[in-house]
Amino acid sequence: MAERTGTHPGGGEAGAGRPRVALVTGAARGIGAATAVRLAAEGRAVAVLDLAEDACARTADRIRAAGGTALALGADVTDPAAVTAAVDRVAAELGPPVVLVNNAGVIRDNLLFRMSEDDWDTVIAVHLRGAFLMARACQKHMVDAGFGRIVSLSSSSALGNRGQANYAAAKAGLQGFTKTLAVELGRFGITANAVAPGFIETDMTAATAARVGMDFEDFKTAAAASIPVGRVGRPEDVAGAVAYLTGDDAGFVSGQVLYVAGGPLD
Ligand code: NAD
Repeated sequence: MAERTGTHPGGGEAGAGRPRVALVTGAARGIGAATAVRLAAEGRAVAVLDLAEDACARTADRIRAAGGTALALGADVTDPAAVTAAVDRVAAELGPPVVLVNNAGVIRDNLLFRMSEDDWDTVIAVHLRGAFLMARACQKHMVDAGFGRIVSLSSSSALGNRGQANYAAAKAGLQGFTKTLAVELGRFGITANAVAPGFIETDMTAATAARVGMDFEDFKTAAAASIPVGRVGRPEDVAGAVAYLTGDDAGFVSGQVLYVAGGPLD
């Protein structure tokens, strides 16, 4: 059960009077966890969603320990019934979700000739079907509120990356999805944007290092050598970009793809 607090931790009066509930998918760890914690610090009550509710406890506890409001939720974003039930529960227990961060993601990397149908379908489903189902379920709450913010996690891999035909297609697809939501929903006070990270240090990139047989520290050092700012990214780097795009200052920024990659990409 969510704890209700009447205040906006870290936000003071800044959050007063505006719709406050954010839902972050894939928020048990990594970029999603950092984003959930950051949005709570911005004064949002945050629904922390991942495949299993108990996996979300750590993120929710971090938010509550800092004085914020969190609700842990278990749902598979590819399952329409689970998505509907989760969004209904958020609306009932926290309030209407008017900020949605489509962050849940998986990789099933393989060169094309080795890529299975399951590798393809799984990655497309979690990123694209998941973002579609979540956005469709949340948009009515945003329309009713006359305010909404949708941010979907794309990737620098949308520009093409060896071994990631499935993932690159999904992440490029999210950019088209985002631009279309921006066009359709703008008149209701809703913006849609994508954040496209480069190399971020998380379990996902650790798994990639393991797959190619490299020590994670060596893998990061090698990646940092080709990043202009000279380091790999942290989940908090992405969370900061999401905080901006979901905040009040970004109401005229919509349909954009913001690369968060330590340098220019095109
Ligand atoms: P991660 O693997 O650490 O976390 C992903 C989370 O999504 C996990 O907690 C997982 O349980 C959850 N998830 C997976 N499938 C789900 C489903 N069907 N329903 C609900 N939750 C599900 O990954 P991360 O590195 O934190 O990445 C977060 C997002 O950022 C992903 O969309 C990823 O593709 C994207 N991204 C990551 C990087 C990077 O370098 N780490 C770069 C670009 C984009």
